[in-house]
This record gives sequence, structure tokens and C-alpha cells, in this order.
Amino acid sequence: MTGQTPFERDRWEALLLDHAAHFYRNGWVVGTSGNLSVRLPGEEIRITASGGHKGALSRGDLLTVDGDGRVLSDILARPSAELSLHLAIYRHVAEAGAVYHVHTIESNLVSMWAANGELPLPPLEMLKGFGIPGHAAPPSLPIFDNDPDVSRIALQVEELFRRKEGAMVPGFLIHLHGLTVWGKTPEEALKHVELFDFLFRFQVQSRSMEGR
Ligand SMILES: [Zn+2]
Repeated sequence: MTGQTPFERDRWEALLLDHAAHFYRNGWVVGTSGNLSVRLPGEEIRITASGGHKGALSRGDLLTVDGDGRVLSDILARPSAELSLHLAIYRHVAEAGAVYHVHTIESNLVSMWAANGELPLPPLEMLKGFGIPGHAAPPSLPIFDNDPDVSRIALQVEELFRRKEGAMVPGFLIHLHGLTVWGKTPEEALKHVELFDFLFRFQVQSRSMEGR
């Protein structure tokens, strides 16, 4: 991750809050679900507090944790229950500066069509947004079983990172739960959420046209 000036640090937090509101308006983080974080200099992670309504967050709804998940801020709130997913990504993806976890309808639907731990992605031009050339074989998106103990999912995510050594599309699914993405910056993480959403909606609409 590149160093940030205080201005950029401020801007990243503002972007996180904007993106949370945008996701809420899209119906991607309803019912206080979902969580967003950014990694700032010194391995400080700013993450949404547990239970906050994503349509109306302010800076006071963000907590600071270190790379091991220890809460460094003094506000009386708990970090998101899914903090362990964010930490797993920051530990293994050196350039990750933002992690977004959303619960979209389409990410839940397509998760039902995955097999052997992967969801094949459709061969669409939109894959170029991930830096994948149009003529290349479309990649698969990793998927994990849901588990009420999210830290157990995070352990599997770390195991996958060790196996793949970073050669992955910037995201993964949890079965009947949602999508997690990362990016170098909040802008890139937003772009990745939108790209996956487009690919998932294409898959859902294709299946419905085929009557499956
Ligand atoms: Zn979740």
C-alpha cells in the first residue's frame, strides 16, 4: 500500500462512508448487514462498527483496529462480526487498501450454482475491469460454505490465499451469504463490487431467460 497524506486518509474515510450509503441505496447492505473497511498507514484499519445502519453512517460509526483485530479506538462499539474476513485479506494481499463485504440478492442466487468451491464467471467483456483480457479463459470465483462462526470462514480464506499465492480475482463468495471484494483503494474496491454485481446479474438473468 502506498503512503497516504492526512488529506488522503481523510478522503478514504469519506469515500468509505459514501460507498456504504451507495450500497445501501442499491439494496446491497440492508438491515444493518455488510461491512466496509480501509487500511491506513501504520496498519491501522478503519472498519464499520457492528450493527450500524449503512444508509446513515458517520465517522463516529467507524472503529480503528490493528492488523490482529485489536480495537485501538475508545468508542463503546464492537467492530463488525465479519472483521476476520477483512483481516485475512489485509494479511495476504499486501496492496489491499479497502475491503467491502455486501449481501446482494444476486450474489446469494449465483452462490447456489457454484460447484467444487468455485463459481465459473461468464466470458463477458466486463472481465477486462479486473485486468483480464477479453480472449483469456474466464476465471472462477472462490466460494466458501457459510458458517455462523465467521472466523472459521476466514481461516479457509487464508488457506486459499496460501495455495493461490495471490493469483486470484479480487473477491470471493460465501454460500447463501454474500460477496467480499478488495481493491488497492476505496475507488477500486467499489469498482470491483460493481463488476461482480454486473456478472452476477447477467448470470441470474441468463438463467431466468432459459427458464432454469
Ligand atoms: Zn456478511
